[in-house]
Amino acid sequence: MDASRTHNPDRPAAMVIVGAGHVGGRAAQHLREQGWAGEIVLIGAEPVLPYERPPLSKAVLKGEMTPGQCALRAAADYDRDRITHIVATVQAVDTAARSVTLADGRVIAYAALLLATGGVARKLDIPGATLPGVCELRTQADAIALAPSLQAGAHLLLIGGGFIGLEVAASARSRGCEVTVIEGAPRLLGRAVPASIGAQVLALHRSQGVDVRLGSGPSAFVQRADGRLDVSLQDGSTRVADTVVVGIGITPATELARAAGLAVERGIVVNAQLATSAAGVYAAGDVAEFPSAFSGQLIRQETWHNAETQARTAAVNMLGGHEAYTVTPWFWSDQYDWQLQVSGEPALAASSVVRTLGEGSEAGELHFYLDADGRLVGASGCGPTRVVAKELKLARTLVERGARPTAAQLADPGVKLKALLSTAA
Ligand SMILES: Cc1cc2nc3c(=O)[nH]c(=O)nc-3n(C[C@H](O)[C@H](O)[C@H](O)COP(=O)(O)OP(=O)(O)OC[C@H]3O[C@@H](n4cnc5c(N)ncnc54)[C@H](O)[C@@H]3O)c2cc1C
Repeated sequence: MDASRTHNPDRPAAMVIVGAGHVGGRAAQHLREQGWAGEIVLIGAEPVLPYERPPLSKAVLKGEMTPGQCALRAAADYDRDRITHIVATVQAVDTAARSVTLADGRVIAYAALLLATGGVARKLDIPGATLPGVCELRTQADAIALAPSLQAGAHLLLIGGGFIGLEVAASARSRGCEVTVIEGAPRLLGRAVPASIGAQVLALHRSQGVDVRLGSGPSAFVQRADGRLDVSLQDGSTRVADTVVVGIGITPATELARAAGLAVERGIVVNAQLATSAAGVYAAGDVAEFPSAFSGQLIRQETWHNAETQARTAAVNMLGGHEAYTVTPWFWSDQYDWQLQVSGEPALAASSVVRTLGEGSEAGELHFYLDADGRLVGASGCGPTRVVAKELKLARTLVERGARPTAAQLADPGVKLKALLSTAA
């Protein structure tokens, strides 16, 4: 791998990718597979080859996978595909000169550029927020730093009852930690899932011994003489924790794009081809705000599936294609032996229908979302994986195909979801 390139006007420009995360790694692969014979330069600030983040909060913290096993592809694949991986931070993009400048001053010219800069974990702005023992979980390095804290009997306190916080809570319980989750909202998982699913997930965590506090947030952390942390909450109560994990969402890494004059709203704005407002510059993954195939409205997705599929579309279009990104959104989360999934865009629903699966402690729920024309625009559900996995997959297929089942069919567990595929246009 050649890490000493500088701009040479006589050298044909490369395909350049900023951000060697999931999108970056996959896009580099697709560029080669799609027939680009020239240079591919993948520049990332993290000192490792691209890896998948979902196992970090699950298998890695549970000790079932090593961080190295999360690699997106083997190192040999990058060599074989002649992908130059440079560990560096890109400081500027010059869209007129069609080049990027690295922190060490190197300048690299691009034929086409992909911004795949993802996002950074949001920080708390309260006293003690940077004390040792107050952690976040976005990168492999974060997981490596956090994992040794998950000792049996240790008290782990999570700030934020979103997906990352709840997955860490489940992993920590499996290692015998005492776990507290502090969530500012009156329910878990915010608006990502319907209230009844939030309530089911709350009951699940409480049944697993997690102390979940809703409607409160931290106001300060203080290091004690014994090295533990005193956590003051806004409701006036205090907790003592060995480790605090802050999981309050991410901020999309848009600074480069903004400084380069690209259109940026809640993310880097792209069109259906994932092209930004600057010629030859594309954006994809967590950082990109793209038009929904359902509504045309700009949306941003922070999901594995979005990273995986947008990387391909971006690569095709960087090579001169005109492919529109029309993939149906999909997301999953694993907690204990439960799975939760959301597909499509539930926010577009005019009405919703619930289907109950199984009974008692084996009960799961599916929610279907129909638009005003009776088309299925979303589905979400959760429950024991063995009960819901197959049904969630079928629900996702129904959404992808734009099926138009009746509310009565959707609500009745006696009607097989597979049979409803025939209602697709
Ligand atoms: C702990 C965890 C668990 C998750 N679990 C799930 C799950 O169960 N299901 C699911 O669907 N999704 C999950 N996700 C989300 C999923 O992993 C992300 O959506 C995905 O990683 C996004 O990929 P990306 O390439 O857009 O961004 P990232 O993977 O964040 O990669 C961006 C990269 O760009 C680099 N970078 C940024 N700026 C610069 C710069 N100026 N110069 C050089 N490099 C730069 C960053 O260092 C980073 O390496 C999880 C995420 C985390 C953190």
